[in-house]
Amino acid sequence: MTKRLWIETVGCQMNVLDSELVVAALRRQGWEMARTTAEADAVFYNTCSVRQHAEDKIYSALGRIRQEKLARPDLVVGVLGCMAQKDQELVRKRAPWVDLVVGPGQLHRVPGLVADVLAGGGPRLEVSLDRTGGSRDAIARSFESYDPDRDPGMRPTPFQAFVRTQTGCDKFCAFCVVPHVRGPEQARAPETILAEARRLVAEGCREITLIGQTVNSYRWSAGGRTWRLADLLALLDGLDGLDRIRFVTNYPRDMTDDLIHAVRDLPKVAHYLHVPAQHGSDAVLTRMKRGYLIGEYMEMLGRVRERIPEAAVTSDFIVGFCGETDAEFQATLDLVHTAGFKNSFIFKYSPRPGTKAFDRQPDDVPEEVKKERHRLLLDAQTEASLAGNLPFIGTRRQVLVEGLSARDERREARAVDGGAGAADGPTATEAAGKAVADAPDRVMQPDRVLQLTGRTMCDRIVVFDAPLRLVGRLVDVDIKAAGAWSLAGDVADGLADAVPLDLPAAAEGGGCDAGPVYQIAPPAAVRPPLGPGA
Ligand code: SAH
Repeated sequence: MTKRLWIETVGCQMNVLDSELVVAALRRQGWEMARTTAEADAVFYNTCSVRQHAEDKIYSALGRIRQEKLARPDLVVGVLGCMAQKDQELVRKRAPWVDLVVGPGQLHRVPGLVADVLAGGGPRLEVSLDRTGGSRDAIARSFESYDPDRDPGMRPTPFQAFVRTQTGCDKFCAFCVVPHVRGPEQARAPETILAEARRLVAEGCREITLIGQTVNSYRWSAGGRTWRLADLLALLDGLDGLDRIRFVTNYPRDMTDDLIHAVRDLPKVAHYLHVPAQHGSDAVLTRMKRGYLIGEYMEMLGRVRERIPEAAVTSDFIVGFCGETDAEFQATLDLVHTAGFKNSFIFKYSPRPGTKAFDRQPDDVPEEVKKERHRLLLDAQTEASLAGNLPFIGTRRQVLVEGLSARDERREARAVDGGAGAADGPTATEAAGKAVADAPDRVMQPDRVLQLTGRTMCDRIVVFDAPLRLVGRLVDVDIKAAGAWSLAGDVADGLADAVPLDLPAAAEGGGCDAGPVYQIAPPAAVRPPLGPGA
C-alpha cells in the first residue's frame, strides 16, 4: 500500500531545500504526501537550532504527535536537520517516541532509515562528527552534500527554486550555532551548480535563488582558475528561459567590487542584497567576533549605494547580546535610522550551547530589556521601510507573480473549509491542500481574479488583483500605494481591476522573532498549474 509522508519545516532556506530533497527521494520510492498528520505513515520535523524558540516549537510539536504515535505505533516520527545534529541522543531522551534522528549532513540516508524502522529495526540516530571530532577533512566528509534530483512538485512554487552553492560555515560568529550543526564550509563545483540550474529551467523554473550560509564567500579553484560568486552569476545569467537570479546570505567583508558590478551589470540578477550587519556598535561587533567594524560596513554600503542606487539592502540584527549597554543599543538604532535598509530581521539574543558566547560571555541582558529593544528597533525599521517604499508610488515595476496574497490564501482556505478556521482546525497549509483536493475546479480556474502577490527586481513585495493564470509570469504593475512591508498596484495592461488600498498587515520581513517558518505544502496546493498559455 502507498505510504504517506507529512513534513513540517522550520528555519532557513537551507531547510526548505533539504525538505524538498528528502521528499523527492521518498517520492521516487513511491511515497505520497499526506494532507494531515492523521493520514500519514511518517511525520517528519525538519528543525532549526539557531534560537531556543525554534527548538521549543519542535519539542511542543513532538508532544502533540505523541498521542498519534500511541494510537498508531507503526507511525514513523522523525526529527531531521540542525536540532538533530545539535541534540543527538537528547532528542530521544526528551521524546522517546521519536524513531529517527538525522542530522543535516546525513539526509541522504533517510529513505533507507525509514525502511529499516518500518521493517522493525528500532530507532535510528545518524549524525555527522562534531567540529572537534576529527581532522577538518574527516569532519567535512561526515557532512555529505545532499543535492540529488529535484522534485518541482515539492517546491513552494514550481517556478522558483533554491540552489545550494555551499554547505556549512567557517565564520564562527560568537553567537551562532550554524558552523557546529552544518559543519565545515564546502563549495559545490560551478559545473554542478550550472547543470542543476539547467535542469530546473527545463522543468519550468524561472527564478533561482542561490543559497549558502555566506554565499558571497563562494570560492572554487580548479585547473588554475578560481571561481567566485560573481563568476557563478555570470554563468547562470546566460541560461535561456531563466528570468531572475537571487542569492542569500552575504557576509559584509566579502561584498567585493566584482560582485557589486555583477549585480549591477547582469540583466537577470536581482538588485537585492541581504547583508546582515548584526549590530551598530564596534564593541559589540568585536564581542560577536563578526570580523568587521561598523566603519567597514558603511564603506561597503557606500559602494553599493553609489553603483546600484536602487538596490534593496536588507539586514539581520541581534538585540540584547551579552553585555549590550543602552549606548551600544543606541548605535544599532542609529544605524537603522541612517542606512536605509529595505527591511531587517530582528532577533533577541538566544544563547546557544557550543558557541563561544555561550561558553565565555554571560547572557546578562534581562528578557524585558531584550523585548523593549526589539520593539524599539522594529519601530525604527518600520519607519525606514515605509520611507523607502513611498517613492515607488507612481512608478511601473516588473513583478514576478508568485501566487495568492496571504489575505486571499486565507480566504480561499476558509471558503472551501466551510469557515472552519478555528484554532484546533487544520493549519493554513493543511486547509490549502484540502481546498485543492475538495474543490479543484474552484481553486484552479485560470481566469478567476484574486489578490496575487509577487516581487520586483529589488525585492519589493507587490499585491494586485489579477487572474490566476498570471502566476509564474512577469507582469508590469503600476504602483498606487505603499506600506512599510509591501506595495499595491494595478496590472499595467488593464487585465485586472484596481486593487483595494487596504494593505495587508506587516506580513513579511518585519523582524519576527521566531524567524521565518515554512511548511512544505502537499503538491499542487492553492496554486494553478503552469499550463500552456499560463
Ligand atoms: N548564515 C546564515 C544563517 C544565520 S542564522 C545567515 O547569515 O543568514 C540567521 C540570523 O539569525 C543571523 O543573521 C542572526 O541575526 C540570527 N542569529 C543567529 N544566531 C543567533 C542567536 N544565538 N540568537 C539570536 N539570533 C541569532
